[in-house]
Amino acid sequence: MNMNFIDFVKKYPNEISCIAHFRQAKESKGIVCKKCGSTRHYWNRTYKAHDCCTCRYRTTLRSGTVMESSKLPFQYWLYAIYLMTMTKKGISALELQRQLGHKRYEPIWAMMHKLRSVMGLREDKYELDGVVELDDAFFKTNTNDKKETPTKRGRGSQERSKVLVMAKVDHKIGPTKKHKKSSAFRFIKMIVIPDSSAKTMNEKVHTYTTTPVTIKSDGWRGFNKIKEVVHKHISKITPPKEASNVLPWVHTMISNAKRNLLGINHKINDYYLQNYLNEFCYKTNRRYFGKDLFERLIFASIEDTWYGKFRYNNG
Ligand SMILES: [Zn+2]
Repeated sequence: MNMNFIDFVKKYPNEISCIAHFRQAKESKGIVCKKCGSTRHYWNRTYKAHDCCTCRYRTTLRSGTVMESSKLPFQYWLYAIYLMTMTKKGISALELQRQLGHKRYEPIWAMMHKLRSVMGLREDKYELDGVVELDDAFFKTNTNDKKETPTKRGRGSQERSKVLVMAKVDHKIGPTKKHKKSSAFRFIKMIVIPDSSAKTMNEKVHTYTTTPVTIKSDGWRGFNKIKEVVHKHISKITPPKEASNVLPWVHTMISNAKRNLLGINHKINDYYLQNYLNEFCYKTNRRYFGKDLFERLIFASIEDTWYGKFRYNNG
């Protein structure tokens, strides 16, 4: 079941209720004092912080979370998490800025990229096994000077970014119906790659799969050394027209991702493409979570090892 907007507003009507929720999430996970290691803290209402009972060291509510160094209200963060997890297609930074009535675009844009980075770090914890369809795809992106401040419209020259796509599938037992795929889709991974060389392919396949794994791909030469890193490699040389029959799920997922990304964003900067793919994969892989997804992302974003690993600021 989903959490609808009325439920959200009832539960989190103001900044106080949002602070209380982040506080509760942090406490249920447990707070460890950075100075003395104690786990006993009391709540300091004035500073919105947990003060250590032993040494008085102060851990603010934002400290060590995705919100560290952010000046945006907690309500913004909760609302962004709500919209990013509970809407089917997602939302653009421009639309969120409008919804929040915030003056500046950049902080809202950065907030969403930090959350997408959290999704990516979560996704990186999982490796694919079993039968995995593999292919590469091109996404239309824009190249910018990374030092440039993000703009609403985006600038720079058009290019195509390469993405390695892996879909874990399960084979259905029994006869297949006409026009239906003979396998069931389980999980997806999409990784931006610098080139389609065999070296890059092998490196990524090795990182993101675990034994036993059987890779299915077409006969592209970038894939011809995959056997070196996996248990089994089935490669079929097919005319482009029939490619979607051999690798049905990667192709479905590539077109879904393209439609989703371009439906929301006018232009995508190549440097941030991985973040957008993180969001697509995170949501696709958790498509049966319903309203739990909202709480899951809150928990993921207060994980205290995240800070510094984000892909959101100027390089
Ligand atoms: Zn302490």
